[in-house]
Amino acid sequence: MLRLPLSWMSPSGPRGRLSILIFHRVLPEPDALIPELPSAAEFESTMRWVRDWFNVLPLGQAVEQLYAGTIPARALAITFDDGYADNEELAAPILARLGLPATFFVTTGFIGGGCMWNDQVIEAIRRIRTPELDLRRFELPLLSLDSMPARRHAVSQVLTAIKHLEQGRRQEIADAVGLLAGFERPPSLMMSADQVRAMRRRHRIEIGAHTVHHPQLDQLPEKELRDELYISKSVLEDHLGFAVPGLAYPFGYSNRKVREVAREFGYTYAYSVGNALTTDAAEKFTLPRLTVRRTTTMDQFRRMVNGTPLATISSSVALCSGASTSAVSSACGALV
Ligand SMILES: [Zn+2]
Repeated sequence: MLRLPLSWMSPSGPRGRLSILIFHRVLPEPDALIPELPSAAEFESTMRWVRDWFNVLPLGQAVEQLYAGTIPARALAITFDDGYADNEELAAPILARLGLPATFFVTTGFIGGGCMWNDQVIEAIRRIRTPELDLRRFELPLLSLDSMPARRHAVSQVLTAIKHLEQGRRQEIADAVGLLAGFERPPSLMMSADQVRAMRRRHRIEIGAHTVHHPQLDQLPEKELRDELYISKSVLEDHLGFAVPGLAYPFGYSNRKVREVAREFGYTYAYSVGNALTTDAAEKFTLPRLTVRRTTTMDQFRRMVNGTPLATISSSVALCSGASTSAVSSACGALV
C-alpha cells in the first residue's frame, strides 16, 4: 500500500527524484551519550524497511540515471560520511547481508588512527571524573557533568560553541577537554587503511573523498582548499588503488571556488547536505543529501520523499517500529 504513494511522490524517468541518505556511525549498542546514532540492530531494521520499499541503487549509477532520465521510481542511495571503523565492522556486513549498495566518504587524514575533534570532545566528556567541566578560559560556561543528561548537555554546548571556530582554535579546545580526561592521544575510532581496502573489495561498495582534515571548505584559503581536495583524492586513488569520482563536502558547505577546484581535480560529482531530494535540476557539484538519525518517524520519511523540507531527517527505531520520537538534538549529530 505504501509503494503506490511513494511511486507517485518519487516517480521514474525524467521527472524522477533520488533520495540520498547520509549516515555516520552504527554502534554495537545504543549509547546514552550519543542517542541519535543507531545500534546495529536498529540500522538493520531501517535497512530492511528501505530495501522493501525503495529501489536502492549504487550512488554513482543513480546519479547517472537521474541525469539520463532513466531513474526508477522510489530511487534511493545510501551514503556514510567520515570513515568510522564501525562502518566496516558493523554497517558493511549488514548492507552485504541485505544486498544493498552504499558509498562511504572517507576523511583521509584520520585513516589508521585518531578521531575528529567532535569525537574527541564526546569521548573525553564520557570519561572525565570531575563533577564539572571548566572551560571558562575558553569563554564557555561552567558545565555540570553530574548525570548522563548533564553530560549530554555539556557535549552539545561544547560542540555547538566550537563548531564554527577556526580549525586551530577548535582543536586547541578539543585537546584541552581531552587532557581533562587524561587522553595522551585522541581515541582511535576511524578505519585503518586495511579496513578501507576491505570495504572497497566488498560487492557494491563505493568509496568517496571527504577531505583530509574535515574542514569547512568555504572558509579555507585557496592553497589549503586545494590541498584538502587534491590530497584526499590522491591518497585514496594512489595509495589504496581505486578511482574516487565522488566528494562529500564536510558539513555540506561549498562555494563557487570550492566547486571549481573540485571539478578541476577530476571529481565527477560532489554532495552537500540540502535535506532535499535530488532531481535532474540539481547542480552536479551540490547534490543534496538527507541526514538520517535514529528518531525519524514514518511520517517524516514520507514528507522527505515528498520533497517537503525538514530541518533534519532522523531514522531507524521510529521509522521501523512506529515508536514515538523526541527531537534529540545532539551537536554530534549536527556534524556531517
Ligand atoms: Zn563529515
